[in-house]
Amino acid sequence: MIKITAIKTFPVRIENGNQLIIKIETDQKDIYGWGASGLSGRELAVVGAVKHYANFIIGKDPRRIGALWQQMYRSQYFEGGRVLTAAISAIDIALHDIKGKLFEVPVYELLGGKQREFIECFASLKFDSKEELISKAHTLKKAGFTAIRLYEASEGAAPFVARESMANLVDWLPVLRKEMGNVMTIGLDYHHRLTVSEVTTFMNRIPAGTIDFLEEPIRDENPQVYQQLRQMINVPLALGEEFASKWQFWPYIKDSITQYARIDVCNVGGLTEAMKVVAMAETNYIDVMPHNPLGPICTAATIHMLAASSNVAWLEEINTPVEWCGTNSEKFYPVQPKLEGARYKIPETPGLGVEFNEDLASELSFEMKETPHLFKKDGSFTNW
Ligand SMILES: [Mg+2]
Repeated sequence: MIKITAIKTFPVRIENGNQLIIKIETDQKDIYGWGASGLSGRELAVVGAVKHYANFIIGKDPRRIGALWQQMYRSQYFEGGRVLTAAISAIDIALHDIKGKLFEVPVYELLGGKQREFIECFASLKFDSKEELISKAHTLKKAGFTAIRLYEASEGAAPFVARESMANLVDWLPVLRKEMGNVMTIGLDYHHRLTVSEVTTFMNRIPAGTIDFLEEPIRDENPQVYQQLRQMINVPLALGEEFASKWQFWPYIKDSITQYARIDVCNVGGLTEAMKVVAMAETNYIDVMPHNPLGPICTAATIHMLAASSNVAWLEEINTPVEWCGTNSEKFYPVQPKLEGARYKIPETPGLGVEFNEDLASELSFEMKETPHLFKKDGSFTNW
């Protein structure tokens, strides 16, 4: 018998990103697990949710991951919601770390075993001019990336004007395609900022084949509207990074609204829920392209998920030769997966293969930081 003895939370700021790291300890020496929550904002609400779960998880057997998942999700009289599943995700990932260490196997062995030797990444590319876009893309191509995903560097200082943004991209993207050649996969993330009519206008104005996928062009609360948009444009969609359960993914997968599933293991409900979404996606021949914006715990958990899955496109990578978020600082994460060119090798050590230096956590004070609040010219609000 092994028992959970404590759950610690570390809301910290590491370089450019807030992270909520959790540690689950057990009554067995050196058997503990690391997890991370991916709400990306409002982290202190997740700390509160973890405290509620700790209230009945301490004393339980950490090997019973599926049973604990059900108890956490369904013990809430009103089930689900992003804050709660972000907490469940962190706990579920830490329980997998514990179970891997206990059985002395890498986490992918708990998920069905290894199906590939490495994980190929796409590089995130932030830009606010054509020159910056082209030069960063060349740097990434030279570094070995065969997939890049673009997003505008709008930090909220200037108002967002959709038609101006689209007009720029209509001019810049065909130049980028010419420079990159046809082997490069080019995606564009519009962060839910556009309307259906704006997306349709935009896609009608760029030549077919200029981009290979469009990520989150509109908000996602209404799958029916996304289905209509799906029929109006001719480019694959990449959706789902904020989905907080298999039920949220379901309409998007069953009707093939999305062509790539942007699963976030730290939001969707941990590895337990993520593997179910991977299987749902497989039924419709949809490849997973996981969201990975946090740090090494999210990266490691996602690598194990992808290692044990067949329907895999690319893993998102935010620390590249052109973007440095510093969220993977080796000082704070002395053990972590290492990017080699555009790839990660699969970690072969027991558990996740990641260590956070909790002794240094007090150096990392949490900041009440908002993602940029974006406004239009008339002062009304729009999504960042
Ligand atoms: Mg996105």
